[in-house]
Amino acid sequence: MRRVSIFGATGSIGQNTIDLIRRAPDEYDVVALTGAHNIEQLARDAIELNAQVAVTAEDDLLDDLRDALSGSSVEAAAGAAAIEEAAHRPADWTMSAIVGAAGLAPGLAALEQGTTLALANKESLVCAGELLLATRKAHGATILPVDSEHSAVFQALIGEDLAAVERVIITASGGAFRDWPLDQLAEATLEQASSHPNWDMGQRITIDSASMFNKAMELIETREFFGVSPEQIETLVHPQSMIHALVGFNDGALMAHVGPPDMRHAIGFALHHPTRRHIPVERLDLAAIGTFEFRAPDLRRWPALGIARDVMERGGLSGAVFNAAKETALDAFIAGQIGFLAMADVVRATLDTLEASDGHIDATMTLDNVLQIDHLARKAARAIIEQ
Ligand code: NDP
Ligand code: MG
Repeated sequence: MRRVSIFGATGSIGQNTIDLIRRAPDEYDVVALTGAHNIEQLARDAIELNAQVAVTAEDDLLDDLRDALSGSSVEAAAGAAAIEEAAHRPADWTMSAIVGAAGLAPGLAALEQGTTLALANKESLVCAGELLLATRKAHGATILPVDSEHSAVFQALIGEDLAAVERVIITASGGAFRDWPLDQLAEATLEQASSHPNWDMGQRITIDSASMFNKAMELIETREFFGVSPEQIETLVHPQSMIHALVGFNDGALMAHVGPPDMRHAIGFALHHPTRRHIPVERLDLAAIGTFEFRAPDLRRWPALGIARDVMERGGLSGAVFNAAKETALDAFIAGQIGFLAMADVVRATLDTLEASDGHIDATMTLDNVLQIDHLARKAARAIIEQ
């Protein structure tokens, strides 16, 4: 039996992971499931999968969780520290699918016990890529990317020599506003930004897809995880979302990873790695699809892509500033405090502010320093929003 834990079990990635585990329950011994607000789902899944412990991030919801678990043998716990404690419980495979920087500390704790970390939480790599990879190395752990583009790159690189890689092309659907007139973007509403043409995902990443902050994060993620230089990373708009990424080699060959826009593929790949198993995703009928389209990204439409370039060049803790500012700006957009295009302005202004302050961005990458700069950047971003 493989011991598995799922952090962010109640979310979109978490539920897709449970869907795959549920198909072969005898193969898995579920250690921990975590969530935040969705207590009912968390308790139902924890009881069904006979988890050791269910943890909510919300201290106030501990009693509700206890009630929902009553009569079962599943332990209940609450709070960020309890999530970290659950991540320290030995597991062979751990899904990191909490949304936001809150996924970093549990991810590091899971690596410390030598797990195979299936990493959906891209924020960890953006905020603290170097730290995550160093922790993996120090504890003989493994990280498998779950973001579909990075799973695609990982798969295209199997059996290849990284030194022969010329470029990595990350595709982007273009999100909700791909074809909107530029002059209307500033007026885009929350509802319009919250629907994705191809993927069914959590609300935050869906809005980040419309603004391409999601793609911006993924460019940084690519640099951190695969160690390629910023100049080697390209973005390509591909409205069908079926080619997830391409890797270009020094002989001119391009290896493309093609599949339906269904996260269970990338999750299943990470779950069964290094083998491949049947996964119940749609099989593509390419003749019926007929055409794949490609376009160069327009930086006026998606300023986040330009900001990501600057962050990759800057290095240090600027990824943590970028992520914290982006999360704060996204909160403000969701709350109706700023417009859609203002999110990029807030992120850029926060980076400028932190850059101008005394060397925080160049501090050593420790968890404490990342959390500290995350805090400072959120404060600076809020001040910019309230100006
Ligand atoms: P969701 O919003 O659907 O789920 C987020 C999960 O995190 C939920 O379980 C939620 O609990 C929990 N959560 C929220 N806030 C906290 C917190 N402060 N502390 C601990 N747990 C918390 O997100 P997704 O599943 O869409 O995304 C998860 C991660 O995977 C993100 O980093 C995202 O960028 C990445 N990703 C997602 C993809 C997708 O297709 N959805 C594709 C590629 C990457 P609850 O719901 O109970 O409140
Ligand atoms: Mg992705």
